Amino acid sequence: MIEIENAHKSFGNLEVLKGINLNVEKGEVVTIIGGSGSGKSTLLTCINGLEPINAGRIRIDGTEVHAKTTDLNKLRQRVGIVFQQWNAFPHLTVLENVMLAPRKVLGLSRDKAEEIAVKQLTHVGLHEKLSVYPNRMSGGQQQRMAIARALAMSPEYMLFDEVTSALDPMLVGEVLDTLKMLAEEGMTMICVTHEMAFARDVSDRVAFFHQGVMAEIGAPDEIFGSPRKPETQEFLGSVR
Ligand code: ADP
Ligand code: MG
Repeated sequence: MIEIENAHKSFGNLEVLKGINLNVEKGEVVTIIGGSGSGKSTLLTCINGLEPINAGRIRIDGTEVHAKTTDLNKLRQRVGIVFQQWNAFPHLTVLENVMLAPRKVLGLSRDKAEEIAVKQLTHVGLHEKLSVYPNRMSGGQQQRMAIARALAMSPEYMLFDEVTSALDPMLVGEVLDTLKMLAEEGMTMICVTHEMAFARDVSDRVAFFHQGVMAEIGAPDEIFGSPRKPETQEFLGSVR
């Protein structure tokens, strides 16, 4: 499980995370909603050790992310992250892009890496795009490739940071369907999203972030149906 205990994070004088507490159980899907600048992305980058924290503790299956002795490369294999945009290598095919990390990071043979990459690209519905170059695909297909690339490392946890925000509205659905499929397969995931219908539909719990604080967390019906905090009500009013 992911255990976040009183996590504080500042950039210079700016305190961005003001004591976050959150446990995510195996198989759970937690979505994070909240206004721009509320610390959502920062939390994800702290969880997989891309950013240090200033106080508190984050543990992944008992391993403390920010302990000096923690092998962050190993940890990141278990915690995949997908961002708004991933710049694939333009001179490599889709298949070669997805094979890269299994080859370089896991040290797998070419055949084994290819087998895994084909499997994951098929999983996200891109089996017909293996030999295509990334820039010949739509934004939605590129995001599904980015998801396949993360899955190729066989992560136990997945973090998604607004993976549909840069997409044309027409292409959002196919990427959300891919996330929903992973959720239904039992992947443990934290999704930062602006897609409220998706959050309501797919989450076990929804967390609302406001100015570096997790102001409210609960079942989708609670958060969307009867939010308790005025900040949550105001935010939901503004996005509806
Ligand atoms: P969100 O994802 O909720 O929009 P972020 O976590 O990206 O918010 O950012 C929270 C705050 O931290 C913002 O004020 C942002 O400008 C600031 N911030 C984020 N990353 C950095 C950074 N690397 N250096 C300085 N400030 C940052
Ligand atoms: Mg963000």
